[in-house]
Amino acid sequence: MIHVENLTKYYDKFCAVDRINLDIAKGEIIGLLGPNGAGKTTTLRMLTGYFKPTSGDIHVKDLAIDDHPLEIKKMMGYLPESAPLYHSMLVYDYLDYIARIRGLNGDKKLARIRKLADLCGMGGIMHNTVSELSKGLKQRVGLAHAMMTDPEILILDEPTSGLDPNQIAEIREIIRQIGREKTVILSTHILSEAEATCDRIVIINKGKIIADGSTQDLKQAATKERFIRISLLDAPFDEADALISPIDGVKRVEQLNSADNGRLDLRLTCRSESDLRKNIYQAIKATDWILVEMHQETKTLETIFRELTKEN
Ligand code: ATP
Repeated sequence: MIHVENLTKYYDKFCAVDRINLDIAKGEIIGLLGPNGAGKTTTLRMLTGYFKPTSGDIHVKDLAIDDHPLEIKKMMGYLPESAPLYHSMLVYDYLDYIARIRGLNGDKKLARIRKLADLCGMGGIMHNTVSELSKGLKQRVGLAHAMMTDPEILILDEPTSGLDPNQIAEIREIIRQIGREKTVILSTHILSEAEATCDRIVIINKGKIIADGSTQDLKQAATKERFIRISLLDAPFDEADALISPIDGVKRVEQLNSADNGRLDLRLTCRSESDLRKNIYQAIKATDWILVEMHQETKTLETIFRELTKEN
């Protein structure tokens, strides 16, 4: 659906987006995730045709953006970080105005506004002035604006920025509903947002893509080692180390406490390919020690994201 090759943007001598390659399939919900200043907005603006790249290509449905800017714009709806709305208008009048400038009239226009009011949960606010709406409700009106022509692709720049937790949950739910039929690209610097809403997460830092995949893919790719914690009663560290270290796949055995109270806490660093808990349990079963705890630690996506972008 969207093919991006070596997309690059310089502001003067500053490289904000650095040779990005991306292929986005129809129907995907993609989260462009990165810290502030990573280059998310610049990338989205190039995808919408709002900014011309310094170099690189963007194709949407095999059309090059340089040669077919208008056709591509017609396929896209864009919601910038703060929806640009006319604050003195009634919500209905505003949507009516947007519909007309997008070429919708008569019954088609009414049907579209009704559909959007329903989809974006605006039934009760159509006769309110835009200025009196909360930020979350304004965002819904902005979303309806972006979707007026029923575009195949929706690009949302930090769609929940500045909203309270209830509003965030509501907007996410709307995005998920939209994502059943459309290709959605959204930017966010909030990991949980990308995790909760997107099928695929593209992590961008200093203008470069540093990870790309499903939540599960990202976790696996970043987990080169597994960590197993065990707690043993009546086990001297040296003997426990001598028993566990030779198990195939165990790379390191560390003692985490002083074991003064007879309880020895260990952290085992293991190669990631296999789950060694069974082997470890069997080795301990053959001793007099008591295994009081064993669990495998998994890195959270939060940790992975921080590790990947930590200089920021
Ligand atoms: P944020 O989450 O803070 O919006 P972002 O990931 O969307 O960040 P961009 O807004 O794309 O990042 O900015 C990327 C870098 O380019 C930043 O260092 C920013 O200061 C710089 N930048 C953005 N727009 C311009 C501009 N018009 N002129 C010069 N530099 C710019």
